[in-house]
Amino acid sequence: MTLIKPVLPGSIIGVLGSGQLGRMFAIAARRMGYRVHTFSPDSDTPTGQVADYEIKASYGDLDAVREFARGVSVVTFEFENVPAETVQAASEFAPVRPGGDVLHTAQHRLREKTFLATHGFPVAPFKYASSVEELRGALAEVGCPAILKTAGFGYDGKGQSKIASPDEAEKAFAAMGGQEAVLEAFVDFDREVSVVAARGANGEFAHYGVIENEHQRHILDVSVAPARVAKEIATQAIEMTRNVLASLDTIGVMCVEFFLTRDGKLLINELAPRPHNSGHFTFDASVTSQFEQQLRAVCALPLGSTELLRPAAAMANLLGELWQGGEPDWFAACAFPEVKLHLYGKADARPGRKMGHLTALSADASEAVRIVLAARAALERMKDEG
Ligand code: AMP
Repeated sequence: MTLIKPVLPGSIIGVLGSGQLGRMFAIAARRMGYRVHTFSPDSDTPTGQVADYEIKASYGDLDAVREFARGVSVVTFEFENVPAETVQAASEFAPVRPGGDVLHTAQHRLREKTFLATHGFPVAPFKYASSVEELRGALAEVGCPAILKTAGFGYDGKGQSKIASPDEAEKAFAAMGGQEAVLEAFVDFDREVSVVAARGANGEFAHYGVIENEHQRHILDVSVAPARVAKEIATQAIEMTRNVLASLDTIGVMCVEFFLTRDGKLLINELAPRPHNSGHFTFDASVTSQFEQQLRAVCALPLGSTELLRPAAAMANLLGELWQGGEPDWFAACAFPEVKLHLYGKADARPGRKMGHLTALSADASEAVRIVLAARAALERMKDEG
């Protein structure tokens, strides 16, 4: 194994993308004395507000990408839908971690599912469809109900539709805008879980255990750690995650999302080659957060402990809807002493937009969920009462 030279504190880290993941990464990096440059098509971004330097340019502006990469010691990303050419241009001047291959696989659903299936990881039955005729054939094989998803560039349920019967093929394909798609069997799951893990430059592996996730309208709503699942299930999920990261030769943080079926089988739903919303609790609840872990991994430093500081933690997302009747009552949330408030500095509170989150730490997982939901409800209740 070739030894990768560490990128030490004081160095400049480049982040492609500028959302909340980059913001929390930048906070972790600056705390350790690194400088952060962020690159995205926007300005006054969640990451830019805490970075040393915010570069506003399109991902397709390869000269700007090269200049950005020239000014940093290592490039990482917080947004995986960065075009391959962008990563290629950046890598001419600085190492990009995780590497372009990981990004290439994880940013395209079909490639990702094909990779997982060919490496023997369990996934729901799926078929590629680039026309209505292919979709009809796929439905005959996969069966109904099924979910049609765009093959590339999808997240939070965007570009997805459920197909209850074969007669809906035409409508569902039209709704995708005729893009190439993946048809997936609908999984009647007991629950959804994820494992956030990191792999260091020398192959070292660290994980945050199994996290239990609840979604609302395809968007993550609440996560709780440790997940309330049988020990064997947790061990299997962690081992699969270790193998996924190793098979992709990942250097960095990755989240593996799973369905746990009613008969106790794990199926991999998706990979995210970066810190993940389900791992946000680690920012307050773990010795080393997923963001610091990403920093350590991409800088070729030893990984930190993932131990929880309290026995359990729960995280609840704050979406744009919460702002509908005016500013939420932050005072009310701060009245919960075990709750930590995170806001991402986004000005425009559109419905469905992730604006912030709350984390509650407790002696017990169910109690952590109860507290975090009570704190979120208090934000609204107080607001309604004026
Ligand atoms: P995705 O963007 O693929 O992660 O999907 C977002 C959410 O939609 C998942 O977390 C599930 O709650 C739901 N979902 C996606 N695919 C399936 C499926 N094949 N069966 C059942 N639910 C699904």
